[in-house]
Amino acid sequence: MESKTDALVLRTADYGEYDRMVTLLTAERGKIGAALKGVRRAGAKLRFAAQPFCFAEYVLAARGGRNTVVSAALHDGFYALREDVTAYYAGALVLSAADAVALEGMESGRLLVSAVTALEGISQGDACAVPRFLTEALAFAGYPVSAGACPVCGRLPSGRMRFDFATGAFFCDGCFPEGTPASGSTFAAVRALAGEGEATQDGIVRAVRLLGAYFAYQVGTELKEIPEYLRLLRS
Ligand SMILES: [Zn+2]
Repeated sequence: MESKTDALVLRTADYGEYDRMVTLLTAERGKIGAALKGVRRAGAKLRFAAQPFCFAEYVLAARGGRNTVVSAALHDGFYALREDVTAYYAGALVLSAADAVALEGMESGRLLVSAVTALEGISQGDACAVPRFLTEALAFAGYPVSAGACPVCGRLPSGRMRFDFATGAFFCDGCFPEGTPASGSTFAAVRALAGEGEATQDGIVRAVRLLGAYFAYQVGTELKEIPEYLRLLRS
């Protein structure tokens, strides 16, 4: 039986002499695996559809519980991500985070839109695209980040503050001293992701580091691109 679905390639794995498996993020069925036969041969027609970052409409044939890609129509290959090493790491980070929170068979339309929007943002040089996607992936997984009033005193934290890995909220330094230390610039950057105020470059770097640590704590996956991405952002 054949089916048609918009999908983003999260990762690939070669097998056989010329074949490749792709892990696709789809809106309706979450994460699914599909095979592309002969796609590593020179001049293979579906070569583009077997690359990470490929966002396309895939036609899949299912037989015995296995999917094979029959054809694909490209929406965007995000080729700009291959021409800049910082953008490449940013894009790879988005794919890893999406891969970590997506599940087989789970409706994932919101996550797919977030991931594609983030890759578009990175391609256009939007510095907030990565931390914004991390907050969206965390929310998708059930761990939203709150950058509002301090949950203890109800005032907006300022100066030195604390972040709580259990609840994903920022607190005043004095209201929750056992929390992880966080800076005002990190807080401002996370608020800017939600459209409140502006982020500094330093705040964005710090926000990526904090959100990456929170992601590892709650989702249980260390995003391996983060150290190199942070190094590139600072260089
Ligand atoms: Zn407080």
